[in-house]
Amino acid sequence: MDPKHVKPASAAAQALGWIDETTRAISPPLQPATTYLRDPDNQFRSGRVYARADNPTFEQAEALLTHLEHGAGAALFSSGMAAATTVFMALNPGDHVIAPKVMYWALRHWLLGFATQWGLKVELVDPTNPTTLARAVQPGKTRLVWIETPANPTWVITDIAAAAEIAHQAGARLAVDSTIATPVLTQPIALGADLVLHSATKYLNGHSDVVAGALVTAKDDEFWQRIKAGRKNGGAIAGTFEAWLLVRGMRTLFVRVPAACRGAQKIAGHFASHPRIAAVLYPGLATALGHAVAARQMKGGFGGMLSLRVKGGEAAAIAAAARVQLWKRATSLGGVESLIEHRASVEGANSPTPADLLRLSVGLEDADDLIADLEQALAQA
Ligand SMILES: *Cc1c(COP(=O)(O)O)cnc(C)c1O
Repeated sequence: MDPKHVKPASAAAQALGWIDETTRAISPPLQPATTYLRDPDNQFRSGRVYARADNPTFEQAEALLTHLEHGAGAALFSSGMAAATTVFMALNPGDHVIAPKVMYWALRHWLLGFATQWGLKVELVDPTNPTTLARAVQPGKTRLVWIETPANPTWVITDIAAAAEIAHQAGARLAVDSTIATPVLTQPIALGADLVLHSATKYLNGHSDVVAGALVTAKDDEFWQRIKAGRKNGGAIAGTFEAWLLVRGMRTLFVRVPAACRGAQKIAGHFASHPRIAAVLYPGLATALGHAVAARQMKGGFGGMLSLRVKGGEAAAIAAAARVQLWKRATSLGGVESLIEHRASVEGANSPTPADLLRLSVGLEDADDLIADLEQALAQA
């Protein structure tokens, strides 16, 4: 049986059916070597020279991700931020790029700071409205349209297929931060995207014990080679052990993500009309803006992330977060344990995030326990 012709859950569970040829081990070995033997005739027939460029342990994670995202290739990085910034730095100073107003905070901060100083013309728009996006692209000048869907921390939805069409008509590439959707729920390349970003720190690894990032490309073209060269020369490579843990984590992706979706959907429904909650932000609610698009482009669930806007503003939100007992008060997301955070406190001074917003990453605990804990925390707010 060719593991590439089975359903994605089967391909992930068996990490593409990979077997170690020398030992017949069914789990891949971890290769920590930094360098590879040169042949006596001065060639490198192994195809590998030095570990900043080549590492067989990366190749397994990259092959699995390429397969799950229907891509032509993938590259593992030391973090999601390293992967994302490598894409922007593969552009040229002076290039116009579009990014969303609502997006992962650290990348927004980097785009408005470092990337702008470096010479990129960064424009933040609301891509959830295709008309706004179509007006913002500058044919021949815009080189990259960057979107994130669902987007941190309000989980608004951008129509990937519509964004791809708009970007391509203007001669730009479309990159999608699909960290929240994961390849389980959405395959952006199949919808027309050119590049997909994952913070592998989150769902792909899934156990809050690896920092890593990944890019997947639709085409092995000149831009992809610039990105690969950016990783090799900039040195933003993942550690070998991290790459190994990531493959191990991805084997359970198709069990973890649907479970997180079910939990988030239940929690969102429970608090949708709660006396202490001003709004529940979750694309799985029929009342959510973007629900129809999400229902079309997300298969099998709406993700494990939601936010609650607490009545009583910032003080009430922080007070509620202070009282949780089962949820862990911590940043990050996509792990097996549920996390809660007052997002504006993390983002700091220029954050556009509402001050009454608590961001929830739903893990694998029983949803009833998670609801009960939030209920007791809110009861006293
Ligand atoms: C965490 C995150 C990133 C950045 O990834 P790191 O691995 O922390 O560098 C980018 N995008 C989204 C949506 C994230 O949640």
